[in-house]
Amino acid sequence: MLISGIQPCTFLDFPEKTACIVFTPGCNFRCAYCHNPEFVLPERIKELRPGFIPEETFFRFLDRRQDLLDGVVVTGGEPTLMPDLLDFLRKVKDKGFKTKLDTNGNRPAVLRRALDEGLVDYVAMDVKTSLAEYQNLAGPLADPSAIAESIELLKASAVPSEFRSTILQELHPPSVLDDMAKLLVGAKILYLQKFRPGVVLKPEASSYHPFSDREMMQIADFFRATVPNVIIRS
Ligand code: SF4
Repeated sequence: MLISGIQPCTFLDFPEKTACIVFTPGCNFRCAYCHNPEFVLPERIKELRPGFIPEETFFRFLDRRQDLLDGVVVTGGEPTLMPDLLDFLRKVKDKGFKTKLDTNGNRPAVLRRALDEGLVDYVAMDVKTSLAEYQNLAGPLADPSAIAESIELLKASAVPSEFRSTILQELHPPSVLDDMAKLLVGAKILYLQKFRPGVVLKPEASSYHPFSDREMMQIADFFRATVPNVIIRS
């Protein structure tokens, strides 16, 4: 599997686990506010490619962390685009580590196999907007029916999961938040993330506005009508 980077240790990204993070290059979405354009745009990925980490190097690193790490987080970009993602997850599991997959949910067939074959111990899926707005936000390759399928897969699965949404004033008016809340009926955990201005994928996102702390709390309360556990992630 292509590995564009490794974070050797995190206490925050895999609930109740000490983990490392593996980043995969490439994404099928083009969210204007994306903070990782270097992992998304093909021309930027090409520049970084000489620095990619061979899989053998990663597994040697992992072997040396047997006593220090509980798990491995696989994130992107969009990891489900990697044709050998499932093999990679299996190798990590065979070494005795727990696995967490971060996904945008656009490839439910891959997610289903990862769940059915016991290759993931935790999944975090982005819910970026209402189904009607998905292509406006994430670009033409976003497939609203695939997103809906992934959401339902995770709701029904015994594998622990969370949904997470980065919300901001320009993209999330009340009508969109209302549709998102309906989409998430039956979800157990939703993390709301405040948009942070900074490096972004598209110039127009430089002028986007985050919600205030007070507005974030009001929106969290709104979602609590449909999702029991709503947490604002700073
Ligand atoms: S799904 Fe959107 S925010 Fe996530 S890596 Fe892809 S373009 Fe960036």
